[in-house]
Amino acid sequence: MEIYAYKCKKCGQIHYPYRMVCKKCKANEIFEFDPVPLPRKGTLLTYTNLYTLPADFNVATLGLGIVELENGVRVTGQLQIPDPKIGMKVEGKVEVVRRGTFNKQFGMVFYKS
Ligand SMILES: [Zn+2]
Repeated sequence: MEIYAYKCKKCGQIHYPYRMVCKKCKANEIFEFDPVPLPRKGTLLTYTNLYTLPADFNVATLGLGIVELENGVRVTGQLQIPDPKIGMKVEGKVEVVRRGTFNKQFGMVFYKS
């Protein structure tokens, strides 16, 4: 299971999530991206704890963090870290983060690396 980012075929800029137009060269108006798996290791930039969640989340409270991955892409993911600290190294795993009636939603869950 991988989560993919999208690399512009013209300038190499990596996008996540998917966008229609490259944010760097802007010239890429048709679908010309290579999917590349997101790296799993990164640095925690900031985090927050949520206590009121819709019932279809798997957990009662949720730590949410913004992580800068090794390739510079920033992703939002769940934190499974009891005492998160800004600037700490984390490692992501792809897991089911939300279970709806008809679908499962996968996302990055980060652990202390
Ligand atoms: Zn581009």
